[in-house]
Amino acid sequence: MTDGDIQENLARVLSDLADAARAAGRQGSDVQLCAVSKFHAVSEILAAVRAGQLLFGENRVQEAYAKFTEIGGLAAAGSIPGMQADGTPGEKPDRLPELHIIGTLQLNKVKKAVEIASCIQSVDREDVLAEIEKRCAALGKTIRVLFEMHTGEESKAGYADEKALYASLEHCAKGTYPHVIPSGLMTMAPFTEDKRLVRKSFSTLRELSGKIARDFPSLPMTELSMGMSGDYRIAVEEGSTMVRIGTAIFGPRTVQAV
Ligand SMILES: *Cc1c(COP(=O)(O)O)cnc(C)c1O
Repeated sequence: MTDGDIQENLARVLSDLADAARAAGRQGSDVQLCAVSKFHAVSEILAAVRAGQLLFGENRVQEAYAKFTEIGGLAAAGSIPGMQADGTPGEKPDRLPELHIIGTLQLNKVKKAVEIASCIQSVDREDVLAEIEKRCAALGKTIRVLFEMHTGEESKAGYADEKALYASLEHCAKGTYPHVIPSGLMTMAPFTEDKRLVRKSFSTLRELSGKIARDFPSLPMTELSMGMSGDYRIAVEEGSTMVRIGTAIFGPRTVQAV
């Protein structure tokens, strides 16, 4: 993929998202795009940054850490080539590229994850939440988290049942995790051609989100991260506030993980 291909893909995905949102009676701006750059090189990510994309998702901490420390350094120094719209070299952009971790986290990866990310979308158990709190407290940093729910047969990731999720949310509401901002839910639909099953997975997450809003009015649990390259239109129809799209922007994943 050339930089031009990536930028064309990005523009197409954004306009398609806006279309899907309007068709569902929503605004294009209701749905944020998280560009999933796993297995893609820094140069490819920078192509998207230059086209104005500033939110990225990665699922392996080690790979993400290496790439996003480099990108953060370049951006902070104002040295991403071609980034300044007015062509002024050496100026810092208004906003730095932001990273969300979207893959299942092992406890020993949490420390690096919270150093580099602004949100962990893949909290799938209480242990991870406790470790995020501990590591963020040490850094003096607060971080947004999404709770990943298992809504599809074939995907194994995520809280398997509502009861365990509710226990975590109760702890959040009680103030057990002051450095954690519980911000919403994430899911992956099953990998199937059966659109009804995909839709069911997304509507299940939306309904759960409504229930949580009623049961935990003090928590800002508004984000619904759902929809990938193959199913984002359905996700937008079902109320997604953030889609995570890799292949449709960056092409097939060819570069090996760091
Ligand atoms: C890889 C990945 C995506 C993006 O998948 P594409 O099909 O390439 O758009 C989204 N969410 C998660 C959790 C992923 O691991």
